[in-house]
Amino acid sequence: MHGGTRLVCTSPEVPVSPCIRPGPGSLAGLTNQDLDWPIRVAAMNALQHLVRQHGEVLSWDVIARGFTYQGETLNFANRARGIFWPRHMRETALSIKTTVPRQGREARYDDLRSNEGFQYRFQGTDVASRDNRRLVRGMEWDVPLIYFYGIEPGAYRPIWPVYISEANPAELSFTVVSAAPDAEVLAPGLHAADPKLLNLERRYATVQMKKRLHQAAFRQHVLRAYSQRCAVCRFPRPELLDAAHILPDRDERGRPEISNGLSLCKLHHGAFDTDLLGIRPDGIIEIAPRLLAERDGPTLEYGLKGFAGKALSILPEAPAHRPRREYLEARYERFRMTG
Ligand SMILES: [Zn+2]
Repeated sequence: MHGGTRLVCTSPEVPVSPCIRPGPGSLAGLTNQDLDWPIRVAAMNALQHLVRQHGEVLSWDVIARGFTYQGETLNFANRARGIFWPRHMRETALSIKTTVPRQGREARYDDLRSNEGFQYRFQGTDVASRDNRRLVRGMEWDVPLIYFYGIEPGAYRPIWPVYISEANPAELSFTVVSAAPDAEVLAPGLHAADPKLLNLERRYATVQMKKRLHQAAFRQHVLRAYSQRCAVCRFPRPELLDAAHILPDRDERGRPEISNGLSLCKLHHGAFDTDLLGIRPDGIIEIAPRLLAERDGPTLEYGLKGFAGKALSILPEAPAHRPRREYLEARYERFRMTG
């Protein structure tokens, strides 16, 4: 039944989302056939490929390119609609999407604080409307969906597979949960696990996913504030940049605080985290004496020792986004003690 479906299932270097495998055997015994299954598999495989290529946060331009199914290009999502399915899908939806509005650029991420599933608002107020009905059916059949979670205007962190676990007409919302990162994506009806266990697993996975979304939002905001460059060496490839915390993130799911972040390349992030590189409260870079005493090739001489005594080369334009002096002070103290 799935003979024509190409499955990408190599070990993910980026632990983004699980491999997609239709369950063992065929779907012949199913009563609730998800006739849309092959499209879903094609979409999820294509998405996995995009995330490998572009990183875990995708711009709308990338998402809008769509994916290929039987020689045709289908969309993953629709710019204007939250609940989406390509016209070929007959029963359920393919994806849901939340957007961060352009005004009020500080996204709120209220959802990330709770330990429950994501609350996804109905389209309108009628659970039986055309769009909502597709999600209700998705819930009844337990079909895997894609959630394009808005991180900032025009940027989404895709999460898949997610499932609709509840419809709450009183609150006009669905509850959306994420699957365990190592769970196989099985066609509906093929879940071997005990449903109670499955619910627990998904609850746990959802909490983990919310932490990762928070980190993704932090990284996105910090890198943007530093114009996608390392604050020490100006290195410009986002693939090799991290958002480093100046002080350990005390509330993983609070509002991402840009002034507790620094955009650093992998080398300088590693050096900062191990106190080989310190930043004085006035923004001057120091190198640990134990490293200054060593001699080696260009990475040590130019890449690390060369920055001793220099100022951070990039700082955010907005004063509120620059590193907070008290955070730098506390962190610098640790660097000095480590020596
Ligand atoms: Zn650097």
